[in-house]
Amino acid sequence: MSNLFYQAHGRKPVLDQARGVYMWDQDGKRYLDGSSGAMVCNVGHSNETVLTAMRRQMEKSTFGYRLHFETEASEQLATKLAGLMPEGLNKVFFVSGGSEAVESGLKLARQYAVATGQDTRWKVISRRPSYHGCSLGALAVTGYSPLTAPFTPMMQEMPKIPAPRAYLDGLDADDTATGLYYADMLEAKILVEGPESVLAFIVEPVGGASTGALVPPRGYMERIREICTRHGILLIMDEVMTGAGRTGKFLGSDHWQARPDIVVMSKGLGAGYVPLGAMIADERLVTPILDQGGFAHGFTYAGNPLACAAGLAVLNEIEMQDLCANAAVMGNGLLARLNGLMQKYELIGDVRGKGLLTAFEFMGDRDSKAPLPASLNAHQRFVDLAYARGLIVYSRRTRDGTHGDHILVCPPLIVNAGHIDEIIEGLDASLAQFSQEIHA
Ligand code: PLP
Repeated sequence: MSNLFYQAHGRKPVLDQARGVYMWDQDGKRYLDGSSGAMVCNVGHSNETVLTAMRRQMEKSTFGYRLHFETEASEQLATKLAGLMPEGLNKVFFVSGGSEAVESGLKLARQYAVATGQDTRWKVISRRPSYHGCSLGALAVTGYSPLTAPFTPMMQEMPKIPAPRAYLDGLDADDTATGLYYADMLEAKILVEGPESVLAFIVEPVGGASTGALVPPRGYMERIREICTRHGILLIMDEVMTGAGRTGKFLGSDHWQARPDIVVMSKGLGAGYVPLGAMIADERLVTPILDQGGFAHGFTYAGNPLACAAGLAVLNEIEMQDLCANAAVMGNGLLARLNGLMQKYELIGDVRGKGLLTAFEFMGDRDSKAPLPASLNAHQRFVDLAYARGLIVYSRRTRDGTHGDHILVCPPLIVNAGHIDEIIEGLDASLAQFSQEIHA
């Protein structure tokens, strides 16, 4: 019996090794990692350049507490990251994961408000559904009741607006009127809450597990930027999943004219080699905080040199192998093939995504958009069927977890056309089996 406990799901095979886009269990069975773990392994498994950089750093030092030493690795990674950000976002704060990055962003925003005499501002508006992490602060801005409900008495729940799921509302996501319709819900919420009480708006530029690769409708991102600016509200871009090239540009928000004030990143930055995250802020937010004694926040492992050396090597690999461009090209191909599967299988009701953050959603009826019955547990059953065939994909219930199922297909950014063929073959066979099972 294992002493480990995570979720209620049964035991899984034991991982033996992983290379590139493949993983093997201890029985020698091979799996194609069609979800990059949890949208993490952007440069693939066991990348030799990253491993070499880690070995080199390990020979020098593996820990130097930030109040005792600067380290070359953290300085270099901060410089590299700042160079990849929109102009002016050049202050980098390292952490060890996505939830820590989100907490750091929320607290930086608040401390900036206090430092600049805007003490009345503390509310952070977010969307429903959304996922921003599992610590209590990050949960307070998360719009996903299965994860938040048990903990609501322990946190200050924050105001939410609907995520722009045009496909469910029967609206055209390519029409700017749709984008403005959803973005203006932010303005309405700000006015209800009182603009002087609102600190920030936090958003996943392309939705992650909560909405299943939801791409905002045309005009949405630009409008939310404009609304935030007009009301003196900070725009926090949660790039934990979308950052580090996943959507075909370095940041997901780089696809739009919507410059963030704060960016939070994690998954693809450590890329599965190390626990690493970063909060990158506009210098104008950080200066008043530093002038008044510094940021009242920090984690022991922040800026760990081994993690930073790995992160730097990951960013260099993304650049050297031109993985943002590969994600864009392979993602377009993958999306087209998923649309092909939608034509073949009635139970796929929507296909969406950007770059290699793609998803399809099961529906019981395409016209009414009714989901499959929750009792079918469709998303988990489908994932299990694909897994049995050696294809790993990621799934969640959508529509705030009450019903509806989506499957995320997000392979490492190093995939080639042959890997995409293999993914589609695995999905096709699993869909055929799944359709047969549920119609039996
Ligand atoms: N924000 C987003 C958009 C995420 O997708 C996640 C994790 O899935 C997090 C935050 C939390 O990251 P972590 O699980 O590393 O704490």
